[in-house]
Amino acid sequence: TKFSDLKLSPKVLKAIEEAGYETPTPIQAGAIPPALEGRDVLGIAQTGTGKTASFTLPMITLLARGRARARMPRSLVLCPTRELAAQVAENFDTYSKYVNLTKALLIGGVSFKEQDALIDKGVDVLIATPGRLLDHFERGKLILNDVKVMVVDEADRMLDMGFIPDIERIFGLTPFTRQTLFFSATMAPEIERITNTFLSNPERIEV
Ligand code: AMP
Repeated sequence: TKFSDLKLSPKVLKAIEEAGYETPTPIQAGAIPPALEGRDVLGIAQTGTGKTASFTLPMITLLARGRARARMPRSLVLCPTRELAAQVAENFDTYSKYVNLTKALLIGGVSFKEQDALIDKGVDVLIATPGRLLDHFERGKLILNDVKVMVVDEADRMLDMGFIPDIERIFGLTPFTRQTLFFSATMAPEIERITNTFLSNPERIEV
């Protein structure tokens, strides 16, 4: 498989070429086509496999048309730690260099005021840790009714850190019709249960 076979937008392909990537990794070749078709994806992959690009590249392609309304993000990426969320945000910056997308990173340790200002402007891609996202929701600053795509990254670490109840709550705040891209390095019974509950006929890719 070549990147040019994957039906990504030309602007995304250009950014990938500049990043120096030549061929998609197995998780990318497996996850990108169903994600672009709007299907749910269950990716079983470790860090280092290229899993971040396997959800960011189709999301950028899918979200390139349209604009977010104030306080209503169009997509949501949940990460277990601040560090991972920051890395995912950097990936979005790299791959969306030629696409106009608004992004916000909601992590602890940054003032709410700064994050509120971003949310108010309208966000196409919201990247967050679960606790901080729910803090904003509780404060009445965030509406999740317009989320078209939701990603859960490193679900196994979410489980280790006790975030599964938060994740379930966030799933319940987003529309039933959303697309879900879910990644975990392992499939513990609790993770299997969550995917059975919240993913709809997912394409399962194990690398
Ligand atoms: P990840 O598993 O998402 O943390 O990615 C691991 C590393 O692989 C990152 O430094 C990416 O920039 C890099 N990477 C991702 N996809 C590709 C690719 N198709 N070709 C070369 N490097 C890649």
